[in-house]
Amino acid sequence: MKSLKKVSIFGVTGSIGQSTADLILSDFERFDVCVVSAARSVDKLAEMAISLKAEIAVIADHSLLPRLEELLVNHDIKAMGGEQGLLDAASVPVDITVAAIVGMAGLKPLMVSIENSKAVAIANKEPLVSAGALVLKAAKEAGCKILPVDSEHNAIFQVFDPENMQHIKQIVLTASGGPFREWSREKMSVATVEQAMAHPNWSMGAKISVDSASMMNKALEIIEAYYLFEIEADKINVIIHPQSVAHSMVEYADGSYLAQMGASDMRTPIAYALAWPDRMQTCGERLDITALSKLEFHAPDCERFPALSRAYEVLEKGSWACIALNAANEVAVEAFLKKKIGFLDIMKVIDFVLESCDAKEIDSLEAVILYDEACRDIASNYIQAGLKSKVG
Ligand code: NDP
Ligand code: MG
Repeated sequence: MKSLKKVSIFGVTGSIGQSTADLILSDFERFDVCVVSAARSVDKLAEMAISLKAEIAVIADHSLLPRLEELLVNHDIKAMGGEQGLLDAASVPVDITVAAIVGMAGLKPLMVSIENSKAVAIANKEPLVSAGALVLKAAKEAGCKILPVDSEHNAIFQVFDPENMQHIKQIVLTASGGPFREWSREKMSVATVEQAMAHPNWSMGAKISVDSASMMNKALEIIEAYYLFEIEADKINVIIHPQSVAHSMVEYADGSYLAQMGASDMRTPIAYALAWPDRMQTCGERLDITALSKLEFHAPDCERFPALSRAYEVLEKGSWACIALNAANEVAVEAFLKKKIGFLDIMKVIDFVLESCDAKEIDSLEAVILYDEACRDIASNYIQAGLKSKVG
C-alpha cells in the first residue's frame, strides 16, 4: 500500500491554494492534509479546512481567531492565529508544503517550512526575488527539495538537465503579454483596475494579475529563474507567446529546444509538484493539441514595458536592488488596486525607490526584512506625497 503524502498549504484560500485543494480532493486517498492557512478569509478557510480534513487551520489576522474557533467547534481541527500561529504551523513536519501566500508576507513561513518539509512547492515568488540566495541555501542545508510551481519555472524544471548545465545555452521564459500587450503607453496611462485585472489567458489573484499587465510579473520571474536555476542573467530571456501553450523552454548547445506545453491551468504545474517525483492525474483543463492553429513567438517591447529591463538592472546591482524592486512594486500595486495611483505610476514608484535607496550588503534574513521595510516606507511616503516628494 502506498503511504499518504502529508501536505500543508499556506494561502489555501487564494487562486493557487484553491487549485491545490481541487487536486487534493480529486485524489484524496493519496494525501493527508496537515495545515491550511489564510490571511482574513476566515469563513472560506474553515470551509476548506473541513472539506480537506486538515489537522490545523491558521488565520494570519489574529483578531479573527475567535471566529475561526467558532466555525471549527464541532470538528477535530486545531485553530491557530497570527504570525506566530503561521510559524508554529509551518514547523509541523510534512512531506510537502505548498507556499501560496502572496507577497513578502510568505517569507518567514517559507523559511520555517523549508526546515520542516521534505519538499516545498513554491508559487510565492516574491520571497525568491528578495531572498532567493538565502532560500536556496537554507533548502540545501535542510535537505529540502524546492519544486517550482510558477508555470514558467515549473516548465523549465521539467526540461532542465542540471547534469548538463554547461550545455544549456539559454532558458526562455514565455509571456502572454498580458491584457495590455498591444496597448500604447498613452492608453495604459488611463488603464483602470478592471482592465488591468482582465488577463486574457489565466485566472489569478489580484496582485499577480496587475503584475502581468505591467509585465513586472515577468521581471520577477527573471529574478526567480536566476535563483532557482543558478544560471547567469544573460542566459535568461523572455519571449512573447500570446497563446500561453508553451510554458517556457530550455535551449541546449546542440540547438535542441525543450519546452513543456499544457493548458493555461495552474493545476498542471501544481500537480507536477504535488506528485513529484511521480505524476498524477489532474482534474484541470487539458490541452487540445488538434485545436491549436498557430503558436506565435516574438520579442518583447521593453520600451512599452520597462519592467523587463529593470529585472536585469537590479540583478546586476545586487540583492538589495531586487528587494527594493519587489517592495516598491508590492506597495505600488496595492495603491493602484485601491485607486490611489494610476497604472503607469507603479513603475514611477519603483524607479523612485530604486534611485532613493542605498546599495547595501544583504546577507541575512533579518537584513532582508529590514531593507524591505525601509523600501516600503520610501514607496508609501512617495505615494502619500502625490508622487512629488524627494527622497522619503
Ligand atoms: P491570491 O491573492 O489569490 O491568494 C493569496 C493567499 O495568501 C490567500 O490565501 C490569502 O488569504 C493569503 N494571504 C494574503 N496576505 C497574507 C498575509 N499577509 N499573511 C498570510 N497569508 C496571506 O494570490 P495567488 O494565489 O494568485 O498567488 C499566490 C502566490 O503565487 C503569489 O506570490 C503569486 O505571484 C504566485 N503565483 C500565482 C499564480 C496564479 O495563477 N495565481 C501563478 C504563478 C505564481 P486571504 O484569502 O485571507 O486574503
Ligand atoms: Mg508565471
